[in-house]
Amino acid sequence: MIISMRRHATKEEIEHVCERIREFGYKVHSIAGEERVVIGAVGIGDVTVCLESLEAAPGVESAVRISAPYKFVSKEFKKERTRVRANGVEVGGDAFVVAAGPCSVENERQIMETAENVSAAGARILRGGAFKPRTSPYDFQGLELEGLKLLAKARTATGLAVVTEVMSDRDVGLVAEYADLMQVGARNMQNFSLLKELGKSGRPVLLKRGMSSTLKELLMSAEYITAHGNPNIVLCERGIRTFETVTRNTCDLAAVPALNELTHLPVIVDPSHATGKSSLVPAVSCAAVAIGADGLIVEVHPCPEKAYSDGAQSLNLAAFRSMMRQLQGYLALWREARTADLAKAAAQ
Ligand code: PEP
Ligand code: MN
Repeated sequence: MIISMRRHATKEEIEHVCERIREFGYKVHSIAGEERVVIGAVGIGDVTVCLESLEAAPGVESAVRISAPYKFVSKEFKKERTRVRANGVEVGGDAFVVAAGPCSVENERQIMETAENVSAAGARILRGGAFKPRTSPYDFQGLELEGLKLLAKARTATGLAVVTEVMSDRDVGLVAEYADLMQVGARNMQNFSLLKELGKSGRPVLLKRGMSSTLKELLMSAEYITAHGNPNIVLCERGIRTFETVTRNTCDLAAVPALNELTHLPVIVDPSHATGKSSLVPAVSCAAVAIGADGLIVEVHPCPEKAYSDGAQSLNLAAFRSMMRQLQGYLALWREARTADLAKAAAQ
């Protein structure tokens, strides 16, 4: 259920509604909005009687049932876009955000050189895996704690925010000490113990779409994190598995506007894992800007040929600079569209 309070409803009226919800045996899950408070509640069974009673309570404008199985991440619950803040960077707001960096953190020189270069080229977030989910147990598994420390060092040197993957619920506390944005990899999108722990941790989450997951499943995973207390989630389209073999995955670009219709959460695109080929990354990045994504996460390495992982899809430093220049024309149109969109939302 969503209970929308009238503009400037009093604290007592809000508290009274919460009490009534509890009396009916339902759980008050989240309260959103500053000027106009919206209360979310969930419960099992028929909520009709509760809805009718709440509609009559003082200060209540409307009480409705949310039809989507994902409740708090749905557009029905909240019309305005969610802005996710990570170390001074806002994803989902009025600026397009680029995260860039190597697939894996390999050594100090590699991460510092990459951080300085991607920052100078206009990236706001540094990516880099310290815990790596690899298909083969014999492949490089990541520097773990040492990698996290190197990312923190690069953040101090450049002011970039840091996004890095957390693979297990056991590591959430440790990774949260170093990361501004906790990445859930495609292979872990439905690791429910991990999602619950991230809900409790409160650190913003970058949730990647599983390679065989539907958008509904992606939203249900986001709902897990929200239901456990953390509404700060950025969704990521990183390509899905199809019969095509020329590209590593098939980039589902329509997922961006489709998700924008279904959820208030920001959506970014990963053109690197979506294509598997560095030559295809700039074109898919331009398309992501044009289709209204909130940002990109791109793999960049000072020497892709020597990368410990995902070298074939990594841009070198010069190619990244050149792609950022190429994006400028699309970004100007993006800003126009976003400004119009935000103005339209404010007028409603
Ligand atoms: C990565 O970002 O390096 C990664 C492993 O991504 P994904 O989980 O999308 O495969
Ligand atoms: Mn990678």
